[in-house]
Amino acid sequence: MSKEITSRVTDYSQWYNDIVVKADLAEHSAVRGCMVIKPHGYAIWEKMQAVLDRMFKETGHSNAYFPLFIPKSYFSKEASHVDGFATECAVVTHYRLKNDGNGNIVVDENAKLEEELVVRPTSETIIWNTYKGWIESYRDLPILVNQWANVVRWEMRTRLFLRTAEFLWQEGHTAHATQEEAIEESERMLHVYADFVENWMAVPVVRGRKSANERFAGALETYCIEALMQDGKALQAGTSHFLGQNFAKAFDVKFTGRDGKLEYVWATSWGVSTRLIGALIMAHSDDSGLVIPPKLAPIQVVIVPIYKGTEELDAISSFVSELVVKLKAKGIAVKYDDRDTQRPGFKFAEYEMKGVPVRIAVGKRDMENGTVEVARRDTKTKLTVGQDGLEIYLQQLLEEIQQNLFDRALAFRDSHITPANSYEEFKQLLDEKGGFISAHWDGTPETEQRIKEETKATIRCIPLDNPREEGVCILTGKPSTQRVLFARAY
Ligand code: AMP
Repeated sequence: MSKEITSRVTDYSQWYNDIVVKADLAEHSAVRGCMVIKPHGYAIWEKMQAVLDRMFKETGHSNAYFPLFIPKSYFSKEASHVDGFATECAVVTHYRLKNDGNGNIVVDENAKLEEELVVRPTSETIIWNTYKGWIESYRDLPILVNQWANVVRWEMRTRLFLRTAEFLWQEGHTAHATQEEAIEESERMLHVYADFVENWMAVPVVRGRKSANERFAGALETYCIEALMQDGKALQAGTSHFLGQNFAKAFDVKFTGRDGKLEYVWATSWGVSTRLIGALIMAHSDDSGLVIPPKLAPIQVVIVPIYKGTEELDAISSFVSELVVKLKAKGIAVKYDDRDTQRPGFKFAEYEMKGVPVRIAVGKRDMENGTVEVARRDTKTKLTVGQDGLEIYLQQLLEEIQQNLFDRALAFRDSHITPANSYEEFKQLLDEKGGFISAHWDGTPETEQRIKEETKATIRCIPLDNPREEGVCILTGKPSTQRVLFARAY
């Protein structure tokens, strides 16, 4: 298989697909819209999971698991929720197949479910139906639960990782005695997500609120983090919802307060998905393949021996085995690739494509000089470095690469937040530059909808730290008190 990939300027979308496939992250499956996540892609997801899971536990949450199937009737209990998800639900109607006698496997019509089951697109309904049995008094609150699971949303236009019909995610579902506490929780989790995406994925984000049009179905407020990809399109990287008492009312979940009064419980939910892998690819990678920030790289340092004959290999290997011990002691994920079935050049290309942050080559000359060759994946620079204290050098280098990736993405993002003061300017910026466009909006869903229809740009968010500024809406000329961030998005 050719390892050449399409360049970003030629066709960004093809470049992305090429990386996913040629870096061995995932592939399309036999089922439309569903992907196979391959070991290298899954290893990145496992790293993400491990860090997020720790962060959730540090903020007081525990993991639990709820069923994949949700009785259809649950969806009609919260009106706006069903409206939001109805068009993308997979529904189970039967529980058995049979042989029709002619060698065909058919659905057994005698095995029709009394009540059809929806494959969860998100679990608010089944979880709130469960919480009804868990909550009686204020002593039972808060409930701080997270679930790692797969969900199904029958998306019509899918893209590997970014938007798939089945995806892996975590969904937090919390229950609180007061509105303030629930809002605080939804904001806290937004900051946890932002912390993860910035400090682990090295992708800067804007923290904000969604407009009513873009809000989660059933939420009173949706908080989000928005990231910018290298083609100037935005990507919603995570959401956290303040659900008010909507689901408590739909499932009749009340608690007795300290004052003895019965009240509906307050709710939040929050989630990030395998889409984050798409964000990571699109934010950092280049025309040579994947670039993974060191903190999430399954392999951080790969060592490739350059040798002729077993004698040279043995000398290199005994040096490397000591180095590996020292690197592991520093917590560095290292791989020694001494396969004799592939040439060094092949290995270099493979690790470059797969995004390994640091590659070390050791040859006969290096062994004589007490050096190694260190190549950085992010800048593609090579340097000869002494073998003494190499583990300390590499530890610092990995940190430097992590920082460099963040700084690079931040500089790009910051140079792609542009104010527009008229609709003409707005449209021109969208077509010629892309990125986030900061513009006044009259605050109505109708105006947002018209802008979306005419330009394909949506309000990505109303930033949390937005300054007040008097102005007029770029479309209607009506008064506005703040700018919001528009962009074309994935
Ligand atoms: P939501 O429940 O709609 O707020 O989405 C929760 C998280 O899942 C967000 O971070 C979304 O970006 C992500 N997400 C939503 N739909 C998809 C999809 N089809 N494929 C992958 N990730 C998704």
